[in-house]
Amino acid sequence: MNTESPTPRPRPLAALRALLPFLRPYRALVVGWLGFLVLSSSATLALPVAVRLMIDRGFSDQDPSGIDRWFVGLIAVALVLAVATAGRFFCVSLLGEKVVADLRERVFQHLLRLDMDFFARTRAGELISRLAADTELLRSVVSSTLSVALRSTVTMLGSGIALLITSPRLAGMAAIGIPVVILPIVLYGRRVQRLARDNQDRIADANASASETLGAIHTVQSYVREEHEAQRFGDAVRASIASARRRIGTQAALTAVVILLVFGAITGVLWIGARDVIGGTLSAGTLGQFVLYAVIGAGSIGALTEVWAELQRAGGGMGRIEELLAERTTIEAPQNPEPLPERVRGELRLEDVTFHYAGRENQPALKHFNLHLRPGETVALVGPSGAGKSTVLQLLLRFHDPQQGSVSLDGHDLRRLDPRELRRQIALVPQNPVLFGTDARDNLRYGRLDADDAAIIEAARTAEAHGFLSNLPEGYDTHLGERGVRLSGGQQQRVAIARAVLKDAPVLLLDEATSALDAQSERDIQQALERLMHGRTTLVIAHRLATVRRADRIIVLDAGRIVAEGTHEELIAQGGLYAELARLQFSA
Ligand code: ATP
Repeated sequence: MNTESPTPRPRPLAALRALLPFLRPYRALVVGWLGFLVLSSSATLALPVAVRLMIDRGFSDQDPSGIDRWFVGLIAVALVLAVATAGRFFCVSLLGEKVVADLRERVFQHLLRLDMDFFARTRAGELISRLAADTELLRSVVSSTLSVALRSTVTMLGSGIALLITSPRLAGMAAIGIPVVILPIVLYGRRVQRLARDNQDRIADANASASETLGAIHTVQSYVREEHEAQRFGDAVRASIASARRRIGTQAALTAVVILLVFGAITGVLWIGARDVIGGTLSAGTLGQFVLYAVIGAGSIGALTEVWAELQRAGGGMGRIEELLAERTTIEAPQNPEPLPERVRGELRLEDVTFHYAGRENQPALKHFNLHLRPGETVALVGPSGAGKSTVLQLLLRFHDPQQGSVSLDGHDLRRLDPRELRRQIALVPQNPVLFGTDARDNLRYGRLDADDAAIIEAARTAEAHGFLSNLPEGYDTHLGERGVRLSGGQQQRVAIARAVLKDAPVLLLDEATSALDAQSERDIQQALERLMHGRTTLVIAHRLATVRRADRIIVLDAGRIVAEGTHEELIAQGGLYAELARLQFSA
């Protein structure tokens, strides 16, 4: 995330307002919640009245049946309170779950559409933390904090009015104390929000560090860096604890101050009230009622201070999520994208393309680059590491737009196409194929979601993958492990090829694996690729002699420019960079 500009959120409630659209689909729950809230608050506020009547009337009645009546009334109030509280809890908790589930989905959907620049500058672990920790914070806010805040506000106002009705004189005295109580809450609240945001950032750091480490566990263990990684994670966790400690300390101090002020005020007023009862100007029942209202009112103020801090925290969390939702992709479909036929011819053209990655303004990855692929042609890209070969594939997939020049498919500038339509016409077999932690069948089906079993097996045969897949413990139902770790590199590559076979796109982009394979696997993969390339426009980043030999043309790339072009024999005859590369790379 862009940490350079931590724009302070002015008010937490303003940040939380962004939640409102998520409440809209659940009107019934909101109405139920508010209805039960009114009912339970009314019942709470009726209790002191029942107690006063019981003291003043019940005890003064000689007839014991009189007091029974007041107790039955009290029980009735308790019953309403019980049912309404349960109803309120049910509605608001369910609301919290639903809203947060929607929010999570929304954030995830949004993330999936962001461009590669965003993912290059954001750590995946941090995003996962936002999906998990920040939304979890909001869940607790909607399902409890917001509920407590609203309930306490209603009870506070209700008991305030009731205090005024019960004894205007005593209430007036209590009122003097109110500003003294509110002031620290507002002042401290800001601080808590800032600390809370800091706290969530530290948690995201720790999570990001953990997920990176676990993702590279082979490297960690082979370098015996377990302690180092544990230390790094521990540091991140301790930073989050330190930040949490500052927040909790502030919150705790605030609570102490408020309790002290509130109880001080109540005790003072009680003192005066007790003298009034002795003096005969106030009934005992009325003082009892007043005290109960004061306790209820004070309790709700106390609850409010606590949740106020929570709300500040949630405001911080929501602010972070809003930032994510505000991220815009730079790779967007135009208003009226040019339509593509069901199947394009597959003519690719890069014209005078100059491109640099974000933050590398002075180091263009491609410079005045021209390339034309006729439909059905196979072109091999070769060149030293860092020459810009993968960048060409990325531009063809429109993961980035060039700063200068144009990239086109069948004469359509890619910027005038819907990127999703464009990508439907292209199958990519990456250098390190990424398999998912599902079974083999689903991994193949990723190429075409509606493919039936027969088509899947057919594709696996074409990719020379059927043999080893059907020999797995549970055949095509075997789980491949996270990122396909239960398959060898060559096998993963063939699964990726089978996936591309299923996709059956007219354009094929191939990033050949550099790792050396045994002769048999090599031959299997070559055969698989040969079948796959047949009848498609293919651009392949070539690392093998067999591939460059088969290509119609070879393009030699160095430092973002084309330095030579021709067939293997022609280029060897020319000498130069290609002959050098061929001698080193293709010696086998
Ligand atoms: P290799 O054969 O090693 O994969 P390549 O020819 O495919 O290399 P590219 O990946 O296209 O090289 O990289 C070209 C240049 O762009 C390199 O200098 C690289 O450092 C830079 N580069 C690649 N990806 C990014 C990125 N996401 N952000 C910034 N610079 C990048």
